[in-house]
Amino acid sequence: MCGIVGYVGEKQAAPILLEGLSKLEYRGYDSAGIAVFGTDGITVSKARGRLSVLSEKTEDGKAVPGVMGIGHTRWATHGKPSDVNSHPHISSSGRFAVVHNGIIENYISLKKKLQAKGVEFVSETDTEVIAHLFEYYYNGDMIETMIKVIHRIEGSYALGVLCADNPEEFIAVRKSSPMIVGLGEGENFIASDVTAILKHTRTIHYLEDDEIVVLSKDCVKVYNIDKEEIKKDVFTVNWDVSAAEKGGYEHFMMKEIEEQPKALRDTISPRIKDGKVVLDQFSMSDDDLKKLKKIHIVACGSAYHVGVVGKYVIEKLCRIPVEVEVASEFRYHDPIIDADTLTIVISQSGETADTLAALKEAKQRGSRILSIVNVVGSAIANASDDVIYTWAGPEIAVATTKAYSTQMAVIYLIALYFADKLDRIEKTEYNKILSEIESLPDKVSEILSQKEDVQYFASQFYNSKSIFFIGRNLDYAVALEGSLKLKEISYIHSEAYAAGELKHGTISLIEEGTLVVSLATGTELYEKTISNVKEVKARGAVVLGITTTEHEHTEDVCDHVVKVPATHPVLLPSLAVIPLQLFGYYVASLKGCDIDKPRNLAKSVTVE
Ligand code: GLU
Repeated sequence: MCGIVGYVGEKQAAPILLEGLSKLEYRGYDSAGIAVFGTDGITVSKARGRLSVLSEKTEDGKAVPGVMGIGHTRWATHGKPSDVNSHPHISSSGRFAVVHNGIIENYISLKKKLQAKGVEFVSETDTEVIAHLFEYYYNGDMIETMIKVIHRIEGSYALGVLCADNPEEFIAVRKSSPMIVGLGEGENFIASDVTAILKHTRTIHYLEDDEIVVLSKDCVKVYNIDKEEIKKDVFTVNWDVSAAEKGGYEHFMMKEIEEQPKALRDTISPRIKDGKVVLDQFSMSDDDLKKLKKIHIVACGSAYHVGVVGKYVIEKLCRIPVEVEVASEFRYHDPIIDADTLTIVISQSGETADTLAALKEAKQRGSRILSIVNVVGSAIANASDDVIYTWAGPEIAVATTKAYSTQMAVIYLIALYFADKLDRIEKTEYNKILSEIESLPDKVSEILSQKEDVQYFASQFYNSKSIFFIGRNLDYAVALEGSLKLKEISYIHSEAYAAGELKHGTISLIEEGTLVVSLATGTELYEKTISNVKEVKARGAVVLGITTTEHEHTEDVCDHVVKVPATHPVLLPSLAVIPLQLFGYYVASLKGCDIDKPRNLAKSVTVE
C-alpha cells in the first residue's frame, strides 16, 4: 500500500506533490518518488527512506521544474525498499512513468513474456511490468493503451501514468486500491486520500473500480473500460484542512485521542432522534431482521477488537448468536453462511484488503452485508448493502484511537436498534442505555482531563520487557485492544488474556516486577477478576487496575488504580479503553518511538 498524488495545472508540480505526499506518508513510508513533466520531458527523482530524503534531494521540489507530475510514497510488497525499487517506474524508452498502489498478482508471467521479447527489467517490483506493458501496447492513444494494460494485469492497483508524448495531460485508474480525483480551478489532482489535496480543493469525484480518468489543467474526463465517457457525481468534502494537520500536538495520535469526544458526538448525535436510535442508512426490513439466525462480525486488528465487544453486546441485548473472526482467516475456512445471516464488516479506511475479501466471500454465499467504515465511497462501503459511517474525520496516526471508539459507538447503536426491532429489550433498559450512549463523549472528556495520572504511571514502567493485560468478558475485549495499542507503538512485548485463563499456562511468565494491567470495570465479574489479580500479585506482579468510580476498594489490591466514570455495563469498553490508549502513547513517547509511524506498519493495509 502506498500514497499517490498527481497534479496538473499552472503551478510548479513538484512542491505540490511533495506536500501532498507528506499527508499520505501514513499509508507507507519506506521510499518516495516523483515524476515531473518539464521542458526536457519527464524527470524522475526517487529515494529510499522517508519523504524528507526526497525533499532534500529535490530542494523541496525546486530542482524539478514542471507543471504536471505524479508522486508516490511506498510501502514495499515486492522487492526491498531501495532507490531502484521506489516508484515512479519508467518504461525502457523512458516514455512512460508509472506510480502504483497495490499488488500485480500475475506479474511474474507478464515479466517473463516481456523479457522474452527483449525488455530489460531494472527493479524487483511487480509495478515495473506496468510501465513496460504501457510501452508494449502503446498505439498513440493513452486511454486505449490503459484499457489494454488493465485487461492484462490481475490484482489491485491505483495507477498514475505520465506519457512523454503528452505534455498536457496524464491518466489514472483504480481497482481495489483507493483513488479520488480533485477538481480545482485551472488545476486538477488525483490522490489516494482527500487529505493530500484538501489544501487545494474540496471538490472531488470518487472513482469506482476500473474507471479511467484523464486529467488536464482545465478538464477531467472519466471513462469506463469500453472507452465510453461517464458522468461522475461531484462531492464536497466538509473536513477542515486542520483536521488533517497536527494543530500544535506533538503527534497525530495524541491529537486523535483528544478528538474522541467530538468524534463520538458526531457519530452518535445524528443517529438519535426523539429518544430512538435512527439508522437512516440501514435498509433491512423489520421482517428480514426477525428472520436473522446469525450475525458474523469480520474485521482486522483494532476493528476486530470492536467486533469482540460487538459479540458480547449484541448477544446480550439481542439474543442472536454472533461469531466474530479476523478477516484473513474467515474466508478460508468455508464459513457457514446463508441468506439468514448478516455479516458486519468493520474497517476504518474501507480499503482493508483482508476485510474486503471476506466481505466478497460472505456476499457470494448469500449474506447481507452491513459495513462500518470511516471513508465515504471506499471500496468496502461500495460493496456493502448498507453502510453506517463513523464520523471520526481523517485518522492519520497508524495506531487507531478515534476510529476504534466511533466503531464501537456504532456497534452500540446497532445492538440497541436490533434489540428494539426484535422486541428483546424492556423500554426502561432501552432508555437507560440510550441516555448513557449520549453521555459517553462527556465521560471520555472527563477521563482525558486526568491523563497526567496515566503519564506518571507510564514513566515508572516504560522500560518493561513484557506487559500483560487481563480482564473478563467485555473487559477482556478491551484488554485485547490495550495490549495491541501498546505493542504496535512502543515495541514492548505484550499479551492480553482472559483473566480466568491466565492460570492455565501463561501465569508461568509472571515474575517479580512484571507489570499486569487488570481491567475490572463491570460489577458482575469484579470479584472474580480481583481474585486473578491476587494470583498474579502472589507471584510478584505489579498491577495497574482499571476500574470505575463505583469500586471503592480496588486500591487495596492493585499497586496503582485509574478510575473511569460509571456507566451502563455494556458501554464500559468505551471508557476503559481511554486510559489504555494513553498508557500506550506515553510509554512509546518515553521510549522515543516514532509514534505516528511505527516500524513495519502502515495505516490502511491494502494487501492480503
Ligand atoms: N507492489 C508495489 C511495490 O512493491 C506497490 C506497493 C505500494 O502500494 O506501495 O512496489
